[in-house]
Amino acid sequence: MSEATSALHEDSRSFAPSPEFTAQANAGDLSIYDKAAADPEAFWAGYAEQLDWFQKWTKVLDWDAPHAKWFVDGKLNVSYNCVDRHAKGERADKVAMIFEGEPGDVRKITYAELYDEVNRLANALKSLGVTKGDRVSIYLPMIPELPISLLACTRIGAIHSVVFGGFSVESLRDRVNDCGAKLIITSDGGWRRGNVVALKKTADEAAVDCPNVEKMVVVKRIGAEKAPVTMEAGRDFWYDELLAAAEPVCEPEWMDSEDPLFVLYTSGSTGKPKGIQHTTGGYLTGVYTTSKLIFDLKDNDIFWCTADVGWVTGHSYIVYGPLANGATMVVYEGSPDTPARDRFWRVIEKHKVTVFYTAPTAIRTFMKWGDALPNSCDLSTIRLMGTVGEPINPEAWLWYNDVIGKGKAPICDTWWQTETGHIMIAPLPGLVATKPGSATRPFPGITADVVNDHGDPVPVGTKGYLVVNKPWPGMLRTLWQDDARYKQVYWSRFPGRYLTGDGAVKDADGYFWLMGRIDDIMLVAGHNISTMELESALVEHPAVAEAAVIGKAHDVKGQSPVAFVIVREGYHADDALATELKKFVGKKLGPVCRPDDILFTADLPKTRSGKIMRRLLRDIAEGRVLGDTTTLADPNIVASLKDKYTSDEG
Ligand code: AMP
Repeated sequence: MSEATSALHEDSRSFAPSPEFTAQANAGDLSIYDKAAADPEAFWAGYAEQLDWFQKWTKVLDWDAPHAKWFVDGKLNVSYNCVDRHAKGERADKVAMIFEGEPGDVRKITYAELYDEVNRLANALKSLGVTKGDRVSIYLPMIPELPISLLACTRIGAIHSVVFGGFSVESLRDRVNDCGAKLIITSDGGWRRGNVVALKKTADEAAVDCPNVEKMVVVKRIGAEKAPVTMEAGRDFWYDELLAAAEPVCEPEWMDSEDPLFVLYTSGSTGKPKGIQHTTGGYLTGVYTTSKLIFDLKDNDIFWCTADVGWVTGHSYIVYGPLANGATMVVYEGSPDTPARDRFWRVIEKHKVTVFYTAPTAIRTFMKWGDALPNSCDLSTIRLMGTVGEPINPEAWLWYNDVIGKGKAPICDTWWQTETGHIMIAPLPGLVATKPGSATRPFPGITADVVNDHGDPVPVGTKGYLVVNKPWPGMLRTLWQDDARYKQVYWSRFPGRYLTGDGAVKDADGYFWLMGRIDDIMLVAGHNISTMELESALVEHPAVAEAAVIGKAHDVKGQSPVAFVIVREGYHADDALATELKKFVGKKLGPVCRPDDILFTADLPKTRSGKIMRRLLRDIAEGRVLGDTTTLADPNIVASLKDKYTSDEG
């Protein structure tokens, strides 16, 4: 795959960091890049030394491709690093977590209180028979007990596997069984758009077919009146009763640096979900370092990452990264439009959030809802912003910059994956000038490249496969009990180098422009065209709020581009607009990119983590029976889209 590329990276707008930001930044000197490149192991070891180890490592890296060991023979405990060293020091009374429930309830938890709750839960888990190496599935809403459960598992060396609280009975059951969990932590329910999501009920149904599950711990979030539950005697235990009865101190287990920390299943847009396995020392070093240098965390920051802990972003940048840094983080339970569409901005205003990290899909939604909502709130505390999850189109980037950051907060577009554990490509704020739509350059110590089918670096401006050339501390170590699949998926294409599965382009300044998954590249009349480029061009039109493009099978051209478009409020979705949009794209990117079909829609099918499921859009466009829809956030969207497309065609 290689093809001279278009407009995207030619966008010359560049935003240099302000001298004020640079002067106070945790990474304030560009030489960090050269030093890390000259000796990556020394770079990572320097940050690992800032963590507390019970026993120091004997060797930084042992690389027997594709298997890495980081900080060999080192012993540490993750909960000790995230909690004890702050709770037992000057940060005892510092707030670690500000929780806001969807109904508006607020709970602030200091490091000392966090210590107490994590220790008690760790002892409670032990009393229920959980020991080092056992798996615990966690199926909770975004409430304080979620991060606390992760930390309690790490304290006793249990391997946690979080399952997103919106997943169905089948998804939960498959994940629990795949990792062989013996205990599930859940809750009577959680709030979502004013409704109760009955998690315990789902967990009960799943557990019927989970032979390994012996016990269930149940958090009381909602109460019996609105969320009645059935407690099975001998199997189910109330969280609060267990904690009240538990001993207050649980000595942290000495974990080997390479002991598994967690297994997290990727949403898997194709095939069976993959159990991504992360380990202890390298992962913690990676999330600690990236949180410190990219989010520039200081003691007076209030950090809000809007992801759910059900995804890796929540693991790394709600729980482990910020807490390892002794930061204060916000946990918000509910949806962005409850009770009204200004909820996020109200949360920022109320808790004086300083560093805000969210996703392009959310940003585009906020854009669609209009500027008046954020403009009616005080967002002046924001000093730094991030984005993750998919390529951000320059239009959304600029809106984020102007309307939310008021032009003064650097934007870190962070590229990474569940597999990579931590951020891999992103600007160091204060050091790297940003360009709307580019994740800029690899983090210090990371060597990434864009290569062609033969593994050779492609020339500037040419699309290729994004690969990582050297092992990094937070990399996945394998897939849970499936090392063969691990080798095949990530390491067989270019032996010794990690295949990310994403396409990318490098520009003349060495900046990386992510082009989406390789399987999201269309082959139109012999040209490789990324769906993302077309989407990006479409949303530059003032009438378009969001667009998803797919390649539909075509007798002559191979594939023909089809665009599903959401129109902004105030515009009419009619034939005239469709014609105009086709022309607009053709003019911007060349006639070969002109979409053959434009279908207007009110919504797009997305996974629960906000990724557009193009596979389903292709099924619709090609008139096939829809594939697996279980990971969709809202299955109704795709069903109505299918009806609409079929009737429009017919
Ligand atoms: P996940 O399955 O959630 O681990 O998603 C990882 C994938 O999300 C990556 O392989 C990319 O395709 C996409 N992604 C994440 N962050 C970015 C970003 N900042 N820019 C472009 N794509 C991204």
